[in-house]
Amino acid sequence: MSGMLEGKSALITGGGGGIGRATALAFAREGARLAIADYSEQAAAETVALVNAAGGQAMSLSGDVTDSSHVQAMVAAVVAAYGRIDCAYNNAGIAGYQVGAAGKLTHEWSDDAFDRMIGVNLKGVWLCMKHELPQMIAQGGGTIVNTGSIAGLVGLYTSSAYVAAKHGVLGLTKTAALEYAGNNIRVNAVCPGYIETKMTEDTMKRRGAELMAKVPVGRMGKPEEIAEMVLWLSSDRATYVTGACYNVDGGYMAI
Ligand code: NDP
Repeated sequence: MSGMLEGKSALITGGGGGIGRATALAFAREGARLAIADYSEQAAAETVALVNAAGGQAMSLSGDVTDSSHVQAMVAAVVAAYGRIDCAYNNAGIAGYQVGAAGKLTHEWSDDAFDRMIGVNLKGVWLCMKHELPQMIAQGGGTIVNTGSIAGLVGLYTSSAYVAAKHGVLGLTKTAALEYAGNNIRVNAVCPGYIETKMTEDTMKRRGAELMAKVPVGRMGKPEEIAEMVLWLSSDRATYVTGACYNVDGGYMAI
């Protein structure tokens, strides 16, 4: 039986850990050839080693998704290696604590923290699409999945720039879906709830019990549970799905 992504090539940003790494392993299991991109070269290489150990094929890339020339180079490297990019998963992102904004109300965010958050979590996704789309148009199609969040759907205390960026990601996703449907390119987003990764460690230490009380299933999600949705959206099982934002959140948005 062939895998869900057999013969396809895929680029995953933020692939050095958490949700990106779990998705890389799921894509590899289903037959994709992978390019794992991350800010940290070492983190990307560690994911590549895990993929290879599992019998998959992967190459590592490093760069900052806020830098257009870095993203352009990443896309060019994937095309040079694999000839095309069938599936792109634009997933790199940062949390408030990474810009010194943990626990800060809207008026307390610094200008620099706000700019960096929007730069990575919103502009970074746009830059990835900006450089991926011409390749996908030229090759006759492709799929893009962007990582949104429940923070793209509702407000969250002390996360204003993160929330603004993730709402923006969903707007970009829907607009690109309209614009490129005629090019055989599907563009969707996954909206994770609270997932066990490096990103949530700090928040969970400070407010874990309070936050878990709002999750109907009563626990955090695992990166692998997001990966399965990204895999499905990227596969030919989802050929009629575009412009959609799928919640994978243990029921958080149902309340
Ligand atoms: P991680 O911190 O494990 O993964 C984020 C990855 O993005 C890291 O590998 C990080 O690299 C990379 N990254 C950060 N900034 C840049 C940059 N400027 N250029 C390139 N790569 C960068 O966290 P998650 O796996 O949890 O996060 C993945 C995505 O999921 C993010 O978009 C996040 O907003 C989203 N999300 C996460 C949720 C959660 O509960 N964990 C909930 C909802 C959404 P490095 O570590 O090397 O800096």
